[in-house]
Amino acid sequence: MTELQRDDKYRWTGDAIECESGIHWAIAEQANGIVAIIVNSPGGVLTGKQVRVLAEIVGEDGVIKNTRRMTSLLLIPKEKVETALEQLQAIGLRVANLHRSVRNIAACPGKGFSPNSRGDTLGLAKELDEAFYGTILPWDFKIGISGCPRNCTGVQCQDLGLMAEPRGKYSIWIGGSESGMSPTHGKLVRKGIPRTQVIPVVKRILETYAEGAEEFGAELGEGARVRLYHVLEKTGSERFALAIEEVLNNPHVV
Ligand code: SF4
Repeated sequence: MTELQRDDKYRWTGDAIECESGIHWAIAEQANGIVAIIVNSPGGVLTGKQVRVLAEIVGEDGVIKNTRRMTSLLLIPKEKVETALEQLQAIGLRVANLHRSVRNIAACPGKGFSPNSRGDTLGLAKELDEAFYGTILPWDFKIGISGCPRNCTGVQCQDLGLMAEPRGKYSIWIGGSESGMSPTHGKLVRKGIPRTQVIPVVKRILETYAEGAEEFGAELGEGARVRLYHVLEKTGSERFALAIEEVLNNPHVV
């Protein structure tokens, strides 16, 4: 089984971001010379204090751009990047990544907010972020969580989508992609995953993906950019379904 490694160490050179493991941390100069920093905020949640500091970083006339995937981009001049990184760290915020790791985790408001919700989404987004932030992967890996079948987060359009079921369980889709040249819907591979087993199951899916990318990467001809849906073209979903069952049947094997 492929052992997953993590790396959250990067260095801003004053011009660009460097990271030994090859994760592309989300600090990038834009076409107009302004630098965009994507702030990691699982489920798009920020505290009032954090929002105030983000506003201080960009300044009164600066811009914070939010996306549908609930990430916040700070748009600042290059000379402010170093200080901004220190300010983010001081309020417990980390930089998100663009490639080679788990992206900022998307989640709808879920239980406690949405009257339709069948289960927790934001707490799970935070737990997944803690478990997999900075995990080194073959390429992008997007996770989204919806609290009910109204599916505001579009779980079929994620590399891995989770939807809450009644009584604390979750259904899981794999292999979707909402963007790129060939957007595709993921496949439902398992229903009824207990909340306590979600993290071990996701871990095993990441391992199976990394293993498949290593096995079929050259054949797929995608260079280093092998996504989960590429691996599924070779393995089918059966390999992943079996890996999930193995975890569910033996919770100690993770
Ligand atoms: S997916 Fe369901 S629970 Fe989540 S915000 Fe939409 S309607 Fe509410």
